[in-house]
Amino acid sequence: MNHFVYKNDDLFCEDVPITGIVEKVGTPFYCYSHATITRHFRVFRDAFKDLDHLTCFSVKSNSNLAILKIFALHEGGADIVSGGELFRALKAGITPDKIVYSGVGKTPEEMKFALTSNISMFNVESEQELQALNTIAGAMGRKATVAIRINPEVETHTHPYIMTGHSENKFGISLENSLQTYESARQMKNIDVKGISCHIGSQLTDIDPFLNALRKLKDILQELKKMAFDIRFLNLGGGLGITYEDEKPPHPLEYAMALKEVLGKENITLILEPGRVIIGNAGILITQVLYTKSTKNKRFVIVDAGMNDLIRPTLYNSFHAIQPVKIIHSEMVVADLVGPVCETGDFFAKDRKMPAFQSGDLVAIMSAGAYSFSMASNYNSRPRPAEVMVKGKLFSIIRSRETYDDLIHGEMIPEFL
Ligand SMILES: *Cc1c(COP(=O)(O)O)cnc(C)c1O
Repeated sequence: MNHFVYKNDDLFCEDVPITGIVEKVGTPFYCYSHATITRHFRVFRDAFKDLDHLTCFSVKSNSNLAILKIFALHEGGADIVSGGELFRALKAGITPDKIVYSGVGKTPEEMKFALTSNISMFNVESEQELQALNTIAGAMGRKATVAIRINPEVETHTHPYIMTGHSENKFGISLENSLQTYESARQMKNIDVKGISCHIGSQLTDIDPFLNALRKLKDILQELKKMAFDIRFLNLGGGLGITYEDEKPPHPLEYAMALKEVLGKENITLILEPGRVIIGNAGILITQVLYTKSTKNKRFVIVDAGMNDLIRPTLYNSFHAIQPVKIIHSEMVVADLVGPVCETGDFFAKDRKMPAFQSGDLVAIMSAGAYSFSMASNYNSRPRPAEVMVKGKLFSIIRSRETYDDLIHGEMIPEFL
């Protein structure tokens, strides 16, 4: 459920007509609904309310400060994968004791920053990372709290680029090496092993892989107990999918119920790291049609947003619904919706049935809240678009459209030229 609805043929975000935002902001821009974000977050968090748990929003899915602030205000945590994301999470007011840090390639500087910031926990993904963290924590006279990220080697059905829990993926420590890694962690003076974690992939629309992963983690947990480890946290990562087209992902309540049943009565805090399921359908990308053209067997609608603004269609072959901002054309045509970037991969929809858009029309690219702005680039020297948040009748720019000066920020021409 989201708050992008038509009223008399005009697309609204909550109580604000999109055309009203276009007048102030221009195009392209991302538009987020505050009511949708808070609703998704509450539904997800409350689904686990009878368990000791922590919901850590996955910052990489959307890292705008205003978005993160919403979770801070709801006492949510953050799942980060870089020092930059830690910086953002802290700026937004997320308390460090609710920040967990994942990722296979944390640098020494990033580890130091996270230790100084007193984050809750590192999800450690290799033996060498563990050693590096031990050394750095030692030099700082600190102890680093860690969970070991296990690759539970479960089957998932999603795009290969977002599968993370197969044995051939780079993430985590293999099941067979896991106990040994725990044993070496125990020997390290500046490491405090407190958790077990996994993250098996993204846009998963089936519950079984999550349950299989949880069963495997539980088995390891039992082993660790026998070995006298004091494991307090079980982190199941993120990955719950959303409806882009006609997918039927489980509702967070159903997901929570199934997990709780498998988990049973364990004396642990469950950590969840949802990203897409919270923010994916809470944002859209608004763009304007520049031109249309037809070739022998194709019709193209060329808009002012490009793959630099939203790379998902070309990166993951992902589907985004295409909707008119004003319903004016009753005729539907089959066309490609493409951007101005000089790449054949610069498309939003191919051979898609859509309204017969004309130059000047406004188009909404739906389900663009997650992995959309956060993946935007300046390719083709295109300033990144503005971001806007709507709350009821109010809207506010939460990131200005970049300027040409922003494009060259930090560049310099050396003296020897
Ligand atoms: C990307 C990521 C997530 C979030 O995944 P979603 O599919 O957006 O829920 C959670 N945890 C880790 C470790 C990740 O890398």
